Amino acid sequence: MTSADDVLAGLHDTRGWREDFYRDLHAHPELSGQESRTAASCAERLGEWGFEVHRLGGGVVGVLSNGQGSTVLCRADMDALPVKELTGLPYASTATATDEGGATVGISHACGHDVHVTCLLGAAQLLADRREQWHGTFVALFQPAEETASGARAMLEDGLAQRIPRPDVAFAQHVLGLEAGTIGTTIGPVMSAGDSIRITVFGQGSHGSMPHLSVDPVVLAASIVIRLQTIVARETKPGKFAVVTVGSSVAGTKSNIIADRAVLLLNVRTYDDDIRRQVLSAIERIVQAECDAARSPQPPTFEYYDQYPLTSNDAAVAARVRSAFQRHFPDHMVDLGRVTASEDFSRIPDALGTPYFYWGVGGFAPGTTAPPNHSPYFAPLVQPTLDTGTSALVVAALDYLAHGRDPVAVAIA
Ligand code: ZN
Ligand code: ZN
Repeated sequence: MTSADDVLAGLHDTRGWREDFYRDLHAHPELSGQESRTAASCAERLGEWGFEVHRLGGGVVGVLSNGQGSTVLCRADMDALPVKELTGLPYASTATATDEGGATVGISHACGHDVHVTCLLGAAQLLADRREQWHGTFVALFQPAEETASGARAMLEDGLAQRIPRPDVAFAQHVLGLEAGTIGTTIGPVMSAGDSIRITVFGQGSHGSMPHLSVDPVVLAASIVIRLQTIVARETKPGKFAVVTVGSSVAGTKSNIIADRAVLLLNVRTYDDDIRRQVLSAIERIVQAECDAARSPQPPTFEYYDQYPLTSNDAAVAARVRSAFQRHFPDHMVDLGRVTASEDFSRIPDALGTPYFYWGVGGFAPGTTAPPNHSPYFAPLVQPTLDTGTSALVVAALDYLAHGRDPVAVAIA
């Protein structure tokens, strides 16, 4: 028996509360930045199990110090989405909340963050209950506001680095449309960097019949939209991944008025920091040049928002944990490949100088077409999803914490 087998012998005994906790959390979702009930229940349980509990940036961190050894951080995100649930599950959410614009919206755990919270709490209890099986420090971090790309930053700005020991390795997972019971892994880039940009370009307003007195921002914006297409088609090396989408282009109110400005909303996805810098710089260059060509009276403005960092798994950590997964979950490993969605998890290990590994957990019946994350029909199977996600965190953590394991410094040298 390995230490992981010994610790996971407790899986059966904890299954009841984990499933109850999950269904309760699913029925009580909270929007990004409003996760007070979820955070309180995480803090309460961590305290009961002997963790030192910190509340910061809207999140919760539990630190379980258990002698000399490596420090392992596992992170779960807590927030739900403004999506009205249509799953028909007996524990489906009927909750509503007030969004940023003041509107009442139906909310649900349509991204499965309730799975992540439950699995991390489950792993925390198993490790606390069987601490004679390992040594070192286990850090369980419950993060708010992943969906708005702001929660990881909020915890860092509230002093996370000063409140916890520096982790040697960090882990996070996401429930995805894979078969329940499976784990999907990728070495290297796994989730794209995401940038949204609000660009305002300025013209000169005029009567629609007097274009010679105007600088027309509609024509300027149209030229920009067309020219931006050349960034991926003509400037990005074939085989390198980049997406540049103009999701919104708004100017003017009436057919006979030439407006004085246009606003474009862009979304950019990349897997490589160099390509990301190249694409963002090309966008600014093209917009500026088109404004010059149009005799724009005022420089354009660029407002970056909803920015997600690249999630790129450390090769050595990913290979090491994948081997541990293969030993523990034989025949249940799949290649995750690259996911075009984005995550803010990596801000935390990047800020702490910690290598990390982020993997996918399956949540759906074999042979079915799973609804995508964020769908109102997103409904992971309770089991084996919860047991798999809980076990994966325990197996990964114990690969660095169990007696007799290589120190981290050797593993990542
Ligand atoms: Zn999501
Ligand atoms: Zn998510």
